[in-house]
Amino acid sequence: MAGSRRPGRNFLFVPGPTNVPERVQRAMIVPMEDHRSSSFPELTRPLFEDTKAIFKSREGQIFLFPSSGTGAWEAALTNTLSPGDRVLAPRFGQFSTLWIDLAQRVGLDVVIQDEEWGAGADPARIEEALRADREHRIKAVLVVHNETATGVTSDIGAVRRAIDAAGHPAMLYVDGVSSIGSIDFRADEWGVDCAITGSQKGLMLPAGLGIVCASRRALEAAKTAECRRAYFDFADQTKANATGYFPYTPPLPLLYGLREALRCLSEEGLEQVVARHRRLADGARAAVRAWGLTLCAKDPKWHSDTVSAVMVPEGINGAEVIDIAYRRYDLALGAGLSKVAGKLFRIGHLGDLNELMLLGALSGCEMAMRDAGIRIEPGSGVAAAQEQFRKGREG
Ligand code: PLP
Repeated sequence: MAGSRRPGRNFLFVPGPTNVPERVQRAMIVPMEDHRSSSFPELTRPLFEDTKAIFKSREGQIFLFPSSGTGAWEAALTNTLSPGDRVLAPRFGQFSTLWIDLAQRVGLDVVIQDEEWGAGADPARIEEALRADREHRIKAVLVVHNETATGVTSDIGAVRRAIDAAGHPAMLYVDGVSSIGSIDFRADEWGVDCAITGSQKGLMLPAGLGIVCASRRALEAAKTAECRRAYFDFADQTKANATGYFPYTPPLPLLYGLREALRCLSEEGLEQVVARHRRLADGARAAVRAWGLTLCAKDPKWHSDTVSAVMVPEGINGAEVIDIAYRRYDLALGAGLSKVAGKLFRIGHLGDLNELMLLGALSGCEMAMRDAGIRIEPGSGVAAAQEQFRKGREG
């Protein structure tokens, strides 16, 4: 097996899973224990309360499912809606596409609003569709806050205002899988009825927890919703969680990890976490400009602070850049998915990350791009990001 060891750290710059801080890793090395013991609720009960902070919710109820984010998508929809219910969903990237597909497969009638990949949800179009729906047949609006496939962040506050301006009673469901814990998210203020995330991005944990923060209205809707559900039933969870237990064997290490990850976020301060992601993203964007390349996001208002999707020049395959980066430099970049396969590579800049780590990744991008035949000035992106970072630290 000579040559199989890869020395040093793998540079993990996919937009999830993200780096797990060492203290969170250590917190997950626990012996297994009886999840029905009388002391188990000492771990779980504060978790249900403390997790609300990352959603900026006081009102909501937290559901922790042993699943990835996709399970949380399904849980949110099937617990609160009935087969044939109409929902409105903008579609502008692979994750909005997949959520719509799931919604259709659980029996919902999805009115799709297609936007260009590289744009986000259009509040004006949402308002128009809701105004036209005089009989209030649309029960919910589903929006992906941060479309990880294209590096596009939508304005959820504006979507809320659009729903209110239309005077429409639709509920608002938001996928915050690659935004919550990294980009400003305000479940209560924006009136988000189901906010959804997973453990492996801003929460800096392995994949394995699907999390829903449900509003009172969503919980009320769950009482009459008829979509079929069993494992993900809110009612089973609510009953067991009320005393600090789960309806089934919970993933213990992840719960210990979640407790430690929430401590990390609270020690840094959620506002500082959001500001750090903005600072890192500004550096990545400065690098892309210096390379003379463009982002998939069509307008600065869509720029994501957790992932930059970098378009490669015509005639270059983005997948080759990614493969070279991985094989030669131990740098993991995100692939172009579906419609944008081969056209871009993605730099994930979220989670447990600082400036120097990102500069390392940008340097690896430069080498891989040059190896793949993209003509960029060596060091140009790194230098631009450095200057951006220095500016961001002034004062
Ligand atoms: N939504 C978004 C925005 C995502 O980025 C992802 C995964 O990357 C998902 C949903 C699906 O989550 P999971 O892969 O945890 O099921």
